Amino acid sequence: MEIFTDKDLLQDSLIKQKLSGKTIGFVPTMGNLHDGHLSLVDIAEQKCDLTVVSIFVNPLQFGPNEDFDAYPRTLEADQQKLEDKNVDYLFLPTTNTIYPSGMEKHTKVEAIDSLTNKLCGASRPGHFLGVTTVVNILFNIVQPDVAVFGKKDFQQFMILKRMADDLCMPVDVIGADILREPNGLAMSSRNGYLSDIEKDHASHLRANIIAIQKQIEAGDSNYSSLENHAKQQLTREGFKVDYFNIVNQSTLEPATPSDKKLLIAAAAWLGQPRLIDNQEVNLM
Ligand code: AMP
Repeated sequence: MEIFTDKDLLQDSLIKQKLSGKTIGFVPTMGNLHDGHLSLVDIAEQKCDLTVVSIFVNPLQFGPNEDFDAYPRTLEADQQKLEDKNVDYLFLPTTNTIYPSGMEKHTKVEAIDSLTNKLCGASRPGHFLGVTTVVNILFNIVQPDVAVFGKKDFQQFMILKRMADDLCMPVDVIGADILREPNGLAMSSRNGYLSDIEKDHASHLRANIIAIQKQIEAGDSNYSSLENHAKQQLTREGFKVDYFNIVNQSTLEPATPSDKKLLIAAAAWLGQPRLIDNQEVNLM
């Protein structure tokens, strides 16, 4: 695995590879890699000749009261996991490499409001602006043929796919299924903030989503009542619910009884960490 911190050197090397006919798969991450991240690497490797992984904890997507400083940084272990996966390139930019004139003065890329102003975007103002901006910069450096993102961050995936389409970016943005712990908890770098007992308890978020999925599949389309029921249940179970919404999978607008492709999306704090999860529901 070749490791680059310099964007020009990485670009030079990748351009040579592209000129020799190689396709490039890209997996952007913030590190502290787990099997969920590595499943994205598997997809990139299946789809392309060469795989590039980036690790960059992007300050622009963290709010002032969020966990940027505390975010787990485990570079040595991450590097080993990527070596074991036979990743070809690891890109480790510094903040200065990505935002040479500082974050404030840097050009931003803004996705459409109707996708960014709800769910996670409503409680994390500026978050998706940080995500779309950094992914643009990374896409321009790496120039991938395929980029793989996890559907654990379903809204992020939808926003990035739409951005790539709207801006005619020559990249195929692919969504990967959520990898879970044996108890159903979605794997996440932030799970490291939870004790073992809390991890067990955190699986209730998933359990509540599945319970609502079953009710929807059994024909219940009173979505606001189902949402309220789930919120009350999670609150009783000790979560502080940010949102629990049943939405249209492509617009992320509140689902209507005529919608067939739905998404149950939830975010809740369990103590300090904020957990997110979702489930696609496809009705006949
Ligand atoms: P992060 O390092 O948290 O920014 O995540 C990097 C990529 O990994 C994003 O596309 C995430 O959606 C994806 N990802 C994180 N957790 C999971 C998971 N449990 N299953 C699948 N993909 C994931």
